[in-house]
Amino acid sequence: MTATFDPRTALVLFSGGQDSATCLAWALQRFTHVETVAFDYGQRHRIELDCRLAVLRELRAAFPAWGARLGDDHLIDLSLLKALGDSALTSERAIEMQANGLPNTFVPGRNLMFFTAAAALATRRGASVLVGGMCETDYSGYPDCRDNTLKALQVALSLGLAMPMTVETPLMFLDKAQTWALAQQLGGETLVELLTEHTHTCYLGERGQRFTWGYGCGHCPACTLRARGHARWLQARAG
Ligand code: ZN
Repeated sequence: MTATFDPRTALVLFSGGQDSATCLAWALQRFTHVETVAFDYGQRHRIELDCRLAVLRELRAAFPAWGARLGDDHLIDLSLLKALGDSALTSERAIEMQANGLPNTFVPGRNLMFFTAAAALATRRGASVLVGGMCETDYSGYPDCRDNTLKALQVALSLGLAMPMTVETPLMFLDKAQTWALAQQLGGETLVELLTEHTHTCYLGERGQRFTWGYGCGHCPACTLRARGHARWLQARAG
């Protein structure tokens, strides 16, 4: 059986979390050549950045066909995000809701800058597809994760660079249970196990305790969402 791949090069915004790792698998299933990029913006915890290297290593080992299409990994310094903003993701503050209805984990402009920086890098790498794990189904209400925001950004980037730049968000309309199901579909139990073991989600940066859904504190909003999605997915499989 000869698989037909999309000949374009895709650049995956890969943070080391469950969502972006699932998107990476999705891209490796589709595109001839895939590269990865992460942004260092003074996150409270660097664990995610360490996890991403482990995920890349494990993906290459467990899925040689994917490994053959997986190219360079890039780390871009976006520390100006920390200088510009003040959020619970970049400072030692408790996670809470703000008066504007957004959690204080929101980093204003973050995804806009991520995609703009990724697009600039993409032109240098010959990539014309950007892949991100944003989702508006089961999310924290961040306005820059919404489908319309990213569709508008795709248009702005393509016009501003005078070249077609496609923004793909395979998880946009999936909930967390469906994201686990997608991983299963893409890479079976091996991928599910790899994502469970090596991706990082916890806002508090904890990796001490191993739950059925992976490592974390078990009670922050990110852990709660991941745990609930995993439970619903297991239920759906059993039912
Ligand atoms: Zn947590």
